[in-house]
Formats: sequence, structure tokens, C-alpha cells
Amino acid sequence: MGILEVRNVSKRFGGLQALNNVNLTVEQGSVHAIIGPNGAGKSTLLNCFVGRLTPDTGSVMFDGHSLLGAKPHQINQFGVSRVFQTPEIFTDLTVLENVMIPTFAKRDGAYKLNPLARVSQETEVRDHAEATLSDVGLLDKRKMVASSLSRGDKRRLEMAMCLAQDPKLLLLDEPTAGMSRADTNRTIDLLKQIGESRGITKVIIEHDMHVVFSLAQKIAVLAQGTVIVEDVPENIKGHPKVREAYLGE
Ligand code: ADP
Ligand code: MG
Repeated sequence: MGILEVRNVSKRFGGLQALNNVNLTVEQGSVHAIIGPNGAGKSTLLNCFVGRLTPDTGSVMFDGHSLLGAKPHQINQFGVSRVFQTPEIFTDLTVLENVMIPTFAKRDGAYKLNPLARVSQETEVRDHAEATLSDVGLLDKRKMVASSLSRGDKRRLEMAMCLAQDPKLLLLDEPTAGMSRADTNRTIDLLKQIGESRGITKVIIEHDMHVVFSLAQKIAVLAQGTVIVEDVPENIKGHPKVREAYLGE
């Protein structure tokens, strides 16, 4: 049994079968990549994991919880965190404030009733946020307004906002999209380092094969809403079905 078990998930948008009986098993602590041509259903599948979409049929189990019908904040409490295709950060706040907010959100119920505890926890939250910023290499920029960050740094900030919640599962939808080669390589290093220091399971949707083959232990190839191959990277390269799926793009 994997930490994430996807069984027979289907999703239709009007006349379009976006997902068709998708099965996926993600092992605890591993990096699992989902690749496939544009429009294959990758983002739709991820949206089914975080409560943005409800599949028509099938089940999604994470760490003993069903993710179907759960609200996004509940899924977050289960330990699932997501990096979006376009960074979703608070542009008017500082880098540090951006990371303190998700930390507070996670601890909300705990400090609300007790002002004294709140003060001590604020220091705790600040320390935790600073440690997380240090992990992603943004500590020096903690006082900057988020809107003034470079594109690569905004992605790093978003990663920090996810990590601040100590997730068990990190979902990444094209984390290197629009990045320079140098920033892409830095992101690969960062994701490797996060894996080693925190043991977080990751599901990564990615177009850039360099990123996929640098990180993934398992690769699922999605084409027209169906997983056509799921295997270790060595067996994906040059696989006839994979080549066929991409030729149509
Ligand atoms: P990918 O992320 O693999 O590029 P998507 O999951 O975004 O693909 O989309 C899969 C298919 O579903 C596409 O044909 C897309 O146009 C369609 N689609 C995605 N979201 C919606 C929606 N909310 N309503 C209608 N069609 C959608
Ligand atoms: Mg997509």
C-alpha cells in the first residue's frame, strides 16, 4: 500500500472525458512524476487530490483518509500541500509574513483562546518561518515585499509557504515552468534537499524531462486521461507507447 492510492478515478467535463479510470500508487517518501502531453489531464488529476474537483467515480486515499468530498482545508490538515502552476503568494506582504501566515493557519485553533500562548507562539512561528526560509535560500530576502521578488524567488517562496506547514505530501504542478535553466537546476537541488532532510513524499507534474529524470523514482505517463505506462525512469525512456503519446502533440 502506498501513502497515496488512486483507484479508478474518472472525470468528465461535458462531452470531454478528462480522466478515464486512473490508477496510481505513490510510495511513502518517494518522488512520483506524472508526465504527458498538453491536455492529458495532469492538472485535473491533481485538482482531484486537493478538493478543487470531485471525480465522477473512483477513490483517492491518502494516509488513511479519503480525499474525496473533503474540503481543501481538511485535506491540508491531513498533510497535503500544493505548489500551483502560477505562484499564489500575498504580493503586498513581506517574504517572512508570507511564510508566517500558513504556519499560523495550521496552528490556528491552538492559540486563539490564550493570548499569552499566542505571544510565545508568534516567536515560535517566526522562528519556524525563518528556518523554512533558510531551507529554501530566501532568509536574506525576508524583509522584502513579495511582489519585488524575481520569478524564481517567488516560486521558492511558494515552496516555503508549503513547507512551513510540514506537509507529508507535496504536490507540484510544473514547478519549473517559465524558469531559466539556472533556476530550474536550483529548484532540482532544492527538491532533492527537501527530500533528504524532511522525507516528504512528492508528486510532481513536469514537462521538463531533465527535471523528471533528475528527481523521479517512478513515472506515470498520462495520455488522454489514461495512465498508459507507470514504471521506473529507466523503462520510460524510449518506451514505444510514450513516444507514440508525445508524437501526437
Ligand atoms: P494537462 O494539465 O495535462 O495539460 P488538464 O488537466 O489541464 O491537462 O486538462 C485536461 C483536459 O480537460 C483538457 O482538454 C482541458 O481543456 C479540459 N479541462 C480542464 N479543466 C476543465 C474545466 N474546468 N472545464 C472544462 N474542461 C476542462
Ligand atoms: Mg496542467
